[in-house]
This record gives sequence, C-alpha cells and structure tokens, in this order.
Amino acid sequence: MPNEIDLVRARINIVDLVGQRVLLKRAGKEWTGLCPFHDDKNPSFRVSETLGRYKCWACGASGDIFKWVMETQRVDFREALEMLARDAGVTLSHRPSGETKSKRETYTQAMAIALRFFRDELPKASHAREYCESRGLDEATILEWQIGYAPDIGDALASRIKRDGIPLADAQELFLVDSDAGGGFYDRFRGRLIFPIHDERGALVAFGGRLLGDGIPKYINSGDTPLYSKRRVLYGMHKAKEAIAAKGQAVLVEGYLDVIACHRAGVRTALASLGTALSEDHAKLLKRWCKEVVILYDADPAGQNAAERAADVLQAEGLSPRIALLPSGEDPDTLLRSVGPAAVLRVTEGGVTPLDYRLKQLGERLDPSTDEYWQEVVHAIAKEPSAVERSKHMIALSNRHPAERDPERALRNLRRQVAAAGRRLRQSRRFAENATKPAEVVVDRSLHPFEQTLFRALLEEDLRERAHLAIQDERLFLTQTGLELSRAFCEAFPERPPLGPPANWLSHLEPEWARQRLGDLGLDQTVKIDGDELSGAVSRLRLELEKRSIREMHRDTQLDDEGLAEVARRLRKVAGTEASG
Ligand SMILES: [Zn+2]
Repeated sequence: MPNEIDLVRARINIVDLVGQRVLLKRAGKEWTGLCPFHDDKNPSFRVSETLGRYKCWACGASGDIFKWVMETQRVDFREALEMLARDAGVTLSHRPSGETKSKRETYTQAMAIALRFFRDELPKASHAREYCESRGLDEATILEWQIGYAPDIGDALASRIKRDGIPLADAQELFLVDSDAGGGFYDRFRGRLIFPIHDERGALVAFGGRLLGDGIPKYINSGDTPLYSKRRVLYGMHKAKEAIAAKGQAVLVEGYLDVIACHRAGVRTALASLGTALSEDHAKLLKRWCKEVVILYDADPAGQNAAERAADVLQAEGLSPRIALLPSGEDPDTLLRSVGPAAVLRVTEGGVTPLDYRLKQLGERLDPSTDEYWQEVVHAIAKEPSAVERSKHMIALSNRHPAERDPERALRNLRRQVAAAGRRLRQSRRFAENATKPAEVVVDRSLHPFEQTLFRALLEEDLRERAHLAIQDERLFLTQTGLELSRAFCEAFPERPPLGPPANWLSHLEPEWARQRLGDLGLDQTVKIDGDELSGAVSRLRLELEKRSIREMHRDTQLDDEGLAEVARRLRKVAGTEASG
C-alpha cells in the first residue's frame, strides 16, 4: 500500500487539485489564494508544488493532497485515497480491513439493487405514471433524477434482495426493509414514488418516498444508516455543486419536488435538507461551495418559521442568507407549473436579509406603539452579525419611536439597548459552547529561529545534506520541539537524507505533527534560507551549546586550577566569536 500511496501522490499535482476549488495565483515558487477554510479577505492561503502541501497563515489549516480531500469532501483517509487513486489511474490492491470493506460493498450493492428495482417498477404502475404526469415530471426528468416507484406489496423488494444474495439484516440497516414479529422482512417503502438521495460526490446513500395520493405520512425518508446521515446530506447537492460554486450562491428549498422544479426552471443551484431542519453540518457543507444562500420555503407559518431558523444556522456559520418570499399558497413546483420557469427564477433572485425579513414580520404581527414591539425589534437587531446592517436599521427606526420624539435621543437609546442585548446573546452562546466543547490540549510546537532555519534547509535539495548532518547532534536543540523533530527526521531517514522534492518524501515523516510542522516551515515566508543562513544558524546553535556547557562546568564547584583555566579560555573564545558574529 505505501507504494500505491506514493504513486498517487506523485501523479496528483496539489496545485491542480486545490485549484479546482480555490482561485490560485502564482507568487514566486508558490501559489496563493483565499483560504477556503475560513472567511478570508486577503489571500493567506499558500500552496507549494515542491512540498506537495498547502497552508493557511490565518487559520492554520494545512496538509497534503489526502488531507485536502478529507477536509473538503469530508471523507476519511481511505475514501480520500480511493478517490485520488481513481483520478490518478492507480489500482489499489490492498484493503485496510477486509471485513469493513466487504460490508461496505454489500451495502453499496444492496442500494444499487433497490434503485434498479424501484426504477423498473415505475413504468409498470399506471397510477404512479399518471401522478408523475400531473406533477409535470416528464420522461427526461424521471431519467435525470432516477425517480422510481415502490409497489404496494409487502415484501417485493425484500424478496429481490434475498434472491440476489444480500443478507436481509444488511438491507435492514440501510432502511430498505424491516423485520416483523415473526422474523420475516417487509419493505420499508410501499406504494410510494421513490427519490434516490445522493451525497455530494454522487454516491447513492438513501431513498425518500412520497405518497401518491393524500395520506399520512406524506413523506418517508431513510433514517440514518451506515451510508447516510440526514444532518449531512442535502438533496440535489451532487447535481448543484458546480453551479453553486460558479455562482457563489445556493438556493435552499423544502423538498425533492421543489428541487427538481427549480432545476427544471433553470435554477440549477437548488437543493434541500430532507426530513430535518437545516443543521450546522448542512451549513458547513454549503460554506465549502458558496457564500450566499437564498432560502425559498413555503409561505405558510411553518415554512416561514423554518426559514428564520435556517437563516440563523447559516449566519452562525458565516454565510449570508436571504429569505425569499413565495406567493402565498405556492411552492416552486406549483409556481413552475402555474406560471412558468421565469417566475421561479424571479423569486430566487429576490429575497431580503434576515433582519429586513424579521422587522417586516414584526411590523405585521405587533403594534409599533407597544413596548413588546420595540423589545422584539431590539432583539432582532442584536442578532444581526453585520454592524453596518445594525446601524442602518437603528437609524431608520429611530425616527419612528413612539415615546421618544427626538430621533437622536431615540437612536442613542436604541444603540444602548441593542448593545446590551448583543452582550446577553454572546454570553449565552459562549455558555452553550463551553458546555459542549471538551477542553483542548494545546501543545506548544514553537521552534527557535535558528532551529527554524536548520529544519527549513532540510527542504532544499542543495542544503539538505548539510542540514541532515547538523541535526544528528541532538545537543544543539534549544526547544523540545526541535529535539523531537530532529529525532523524527533521523528515524524516518536514518542513513542519508531523502532525495528529490519534499512532496516525494515528506509523507514518510512520523508522526503527523512533525510532517505538518516541517511542511509549514516550507510555506513560511519569514524563514530566509540559503547556504550562508544555514551556516550562520548552525554556528549560532553550536555557540549556544558551548555557552551551556561552560555554564555547567562553572556550576561544578570541584573545578581545579586547570579546569578554571579551561573555562576562562573557552569564555574568551565564545566572547570573540560573538563579537565577530
Ligand atoms: Zn484559513
């Protein structure tokens, strides 16, 4: 396996890989861009081809091609390796643990069988086809979204899965079948139109089923399974992500039919959270692809409450949401069918900020001459993260205060109240965070500047041999990190230093922090390095070592005359070196 990993590493260019997500500009030997891991205003993100690593100097994110895929696609190392191996055309022979892998294969196989089954059933069911027609789901749409049908027979899918040799217990884990009291299995989805749910990479992970007529429950979605977490998957993401990245904006709707309607209307940035409110994980997923989210929920009170909550979640993750209002009684699906694609497009292009939206709602719900109205106004403004927005609204509202005629005094009062409410809000948030977050152990990984130069030289081919020789002397190091890093390096490359660009060998360094520390040094613009810098750093470290050993000798009270003379001689020498250096 190590050979395969190296082969993948050699074939995947980190600049190309990162460049698919981040706009990179050349800066000397490296590339820079806006960091995708935090809200970056100035390019703090650097990528080095020779190191095969990236690093953000603002938020500290750093890693190699595998870490990049793990972080941006949210997968584990194994999956990242598989994805990159596919891109690199490398066939992986070894499997880390046969058991879990074959289990995963079984799951994937069971899902594929179920999908095939549902899709084959749709043409056979005339009432399902009629329903599709009534909802404007034509052949092309059914094909594109792989829509199927689960017949209203107790165990049609269960028998198929069993026939194909998949244990029904595994299918049960995937929410395809359930067991009855008698030990038999029955289908989870019956008499429903089936919408396959894919994760952002396009892997089939779950199904959603909609009842054809009226009844309860109208929708059934897979529960969480080994393949699916509803808090992390957004319906339509795999089809929408490119358009979302290109536009910098996503459109969040309520259900499958809304997503499909939007895409049919040309709004290819639409997606939905299914059977659950928008979660923090959903927001994090969206944030990797865009900055702005238009929330397009139903105009009924439930939909509007959900829209406000979604806006809170998005704002908390640093995204800019807008709430768009649908005409009353319409959803994107009905709007598309009754008015047409242009109407859907127009709605998604509208929308107001969450604060504008809340103030409008308050104005409709409460009497602006009451204290209750003003209390809610203060609370709504305090929740707004942008100071500019807060100020704009406070100024506008100060002219309308019923009790305070002088707008300037009204504004001052309003500012004071909003500031106080903001403090209370932040306090309660901090309290909630502290309650849930475990204390982190922070390890100091700082290096002395001379040590930095020494290690930095290891990354340069023409200096590597000299630096490698120098770090063999453990006594030179001034920090614990320096000592441990030198040991890690000598352990990984005991005989002679590695050859070629660091991208080829950095990954052999263990543990992870050592790899990261050395990689970070390579991307650190403040560490200057050439032959003279290296010589200077090594002799300064030797000098420091000499001083330490003199101090130790000096502490030795048993020193005889000869010893004292030796101390004096060495002290003179050190002083001389320091004066000339
Ligand atoms: Zn960053």
